[in-house]
This record gives sequence, C-alpha cells and structure tokens, in this order.
Amino acid sequence: MLVILLLCILSGCKGDAKNGSAAQTTSVATTTGFSGDAAYNYAKAQVAFGPRVPGTPAAKQAGDWIIRQMRARADTVIVQSFTYTTADGKKLPLRNILARFRPELSNRVLYLTHWDSRPISESATTEAEKKMPVPGANDGASGVGMFVALGDVLKKTKPVVGVDLLFTDGEDYGQFGPPEVDVLIGAKYFATHLPSPGYNPLYGVLWDMIGDKDLRIPYEMNSFQQVPDVVSRVWQTAADLGHADIFVQESGGQITDDHVPLLNAGLRVIDVIDLTYPPHHTPHDTMDKISAKSLGIVGDVATSLVTRR
Ligand SMILES: [Zn+2]
Repeated sequence: MLVILLLCILSGCKGDAKNGSAAQTTSVATTTGFSGDAAYNYAKAQVAFGPRVPGTPAAKQAGDWIIRQMRARADTVIVQSFTYTTADGKKLPLRNILARFRPELSNRVLYLTHWDSRPISESATTEAEKKMPVPGANDGASGVGMFVALGDVLKKTKPVVGVDLLFTDGEDYGQFGPPEVDVLIGAKYFATHLPSPGYNPLYGVLWDMIGDKDLRIPYEMNSFQQVPDVVSRVWQTAADLGHADIFVQESGGQITDDHVPLLNAGLRVIDVIDLTYPPHHTPHDTMDKISAKSLGIVGDVATSLVTRR
C-alpha cells in the first residue's frame, strides 16, 4: 500500500523505541485459542506459491488454496470473480473470497485483508530490485495466515456474532498516487457488490501488515476520524488482553487502504496496520521479517472481538 499523509506526529515511531528484543519466532500463549504458530505456517504456505500478482499462475494457485482452506472451516464461502481492466487496458482476472461464519445472524462483523501481492518493488534501493515483485510475507500473507488460523478457532468455537472474512484481491496492483490508479480494486468491487441487499455489519476491521517482528500499531487516522468508537473497541480489547504496548494510542497518519472504499460506502470499517516496516514494497518482505508472536497478538485481539460477549 499506501500513502501516508501524516507520519507519526507524536514520538515513538517504531525502530527508535524498541531494542530488538521482539525478534522471537515462538508465539506467546493466548487465552482465546488462537495460534500464532498456525498463522505463521499458513502465511508461509501462502508465500510459497510465489508473488501473488494478479493474472499469474501463483495468484491462481494461492487463491484456490485460500478457497480450499476456508471451505474446510467456514459455513459458507462466496467467491466474487471478476475481470478488471487496468488504466493501460490490461485485463486482470481477480477474485474476492468471502468466508462466512454463522451466516444466519444479522449482527455481523466484517474482517478483511488483501491476499494479492505487489508486482513491483518501488521502495527498493537498486534499479534491478525495483522491477521485482514483492514476496509479500507481511504485505499480503500476514493477514491471510491470521484469517486461516482464526478459521480454525471459529470452526471449534462459534462466534457470538456472525463473522465475515473477506480476502480482497488487487489491493496492491497499481499506484497509490495521487492520482490513485488500479489499487484497492477488490475492496471497491465489494463495496458495490455486497453479499446481500442492505448488508450492514456492526463494524469492520481491515487487518493489514500485522506480522512485523517489531510490531507496533498506532491509530490510522481515517479510521480514527470517521469511526472512533470502532477504534476504541479494538484498542480497548487489545489493552484488556495486555497488548497496550503494541496497540499504541498514537497517530500513525492517514493511510489509503482497503477500508477507504468501504467507509465511503457507509460501512464502519477501520484499518489496523503497522506501516513502519523497512522491507515494505521491496523484495525483502519475506518470512524472516515476520513472527508467530506478532501474528499471535493480533490474532488474539481479532478472536476476542468476535468470541466474547
Ligand atoms: Zn502494499
């Protein structure tokens, strides 16, 4: 992703504030049944297909894999397949995947994450690397790994609300601009092709780039300004679980991400993202940069939100 209009207003951008002790690969015990180790292994399986650039065989295989994983866990899986024509006339086959738990309930929570990865590495330092696709361990697979592991929990423990896990495609294809071109494609499609007439979840959370070993998640300010009560709910749940040091009460700036088209469509969706990630949009966004521990912390929050009254 993404465009930051306002960077870390307050002190404490990650990297300065930590001493490197977060680089652990084993997960902490959680109270929700969520397994960070499982999430890490699912993310690894996703990355192993290769960069999930729309239109490539790796994208086809990875999308098929997500569908299989979710059909084994969710009550219902809906695949939104569509062809998108890019600004330069290229036709991209895209798929949004929606896995639903307790589809009969009208009180629902929407979680989303993108599963595609970026075709170029514009933030790399060499011209050769800039032309390479992003492996997307954090930017594309961390959320997928967390969702599949969450599916393991929700298959065993029914959520107290209906839960919709949306895997969006084409989030990271083009340029974030301005002008914004060929990005957030799947989220925009979903916003205009909702799963049912009047679909209106209680709230939604976009989980993006949540696996960084050095995890630190400030407020995303579009979310904070437009649906502050949802931000409060998520940050309070994190604090209740002992993660106030990760979900920090600071501004992380405004970020253009998949929640924006949904906010524009009137859905109450926030972005949980740690964009302070040095390998972002480089060929170095690989599995060694993320951890089971970080995925476990975020997965614990995501699980708690939908399994506790
Ligand atoms: Zn990205």
